Amino acid sequence: MTSLPLLPGRTCGGCVECCRVIPLDLPELAKPTGELCAYCVDGAGCSVHAIRPQTCRIWFCLWRVVELSDDWRPDHSGVIVRPDGVEDGIITLYVLRRSDFLASPEFFMTVAGWIAEGIQVALSIPGPVGTYPARAVVTDWLRPAIEDGDPAAFLARVMRSLDTLAEHDFQPDGVARRYAVTTQDGPAA
Ligand code: SF4
Ligand code: SF4
Repeated sequence: MTSLPLLPGRTCGGCVECCRVIPLDLPELAKPTGELCAYCVDGAGCSVHAIRPQTCRIWFCLWRVVELSDDWRPDHSGVIVRPDGVEDGIITLYVLRRSDFLASPEFFMTVAGWIAEGIQVALSIPGPVGTYPARAVVTDWLRPAIEDGDPAAFLARVMRSLDTLAEHDFQPDGVARRYAVTTQDGPAA
C-alpha cells in the first residue's frame, strides 16, 4: 500500500484507534485484529515512534487525508474511514461502535454526497479480538433514503446493515502476537 498525501496541519491528537483495530503481521511486530498494540501508550501514542515499522509509517485513515470535519476523528466518531479501496472508488466506513455520530446531519450529508458523486460505500464492523472484520457494500441499500433526503430512513438502513453484519461468522485472523521492535541497544521499552 502506498501512502496518501496527508492534510497539512492535521494530527492524530489523542486518537490511537488504528493501533488497536488494524492487524499487523510483521517479523518485528505481530498483533491480532482489535488488540491495542503493546507499544501504544494510552493518551500519548506510539512509544517506539522513531523506530516504528514501515507499515505504521504509511497507514493513515482518510480523516488524515481528506477534508472531513473534526467530528469525524475516529476516536470521537467511532468510525474509521479506511484508505484501502478508495483508489478503486470505494469508501469503507469501519464502524467501531454505534455512536451518536451515525445519527448526525454531518454523517448523513457526507455519505449522501459521496453516493451522489458515484462513490461506492461499504460498511464494516470489527468482530471479536483476533478475527477478520465483516464488510458489505451498501450503496444501493442506502440510496433510496438518500434520494428521498430522509436522514431517519438513512439511519434505519445503516443500523439494519450493522445488525446484519453483526450476525457474520467472524473468522480467526491467525495472527500470533509478537512484540520485537528493537533499537540498536536491544528490545524497545
Ligand atoms: S508500533 Fe506504534 S504506530 Fe505501530 S501499531 Fe504499535 S503503537 Fe501504533
Ligand atoms: S485512526 Fe486515523 S486519526 Fe486515529 S490514530 Fe489512526 S491515523 Fe490517526
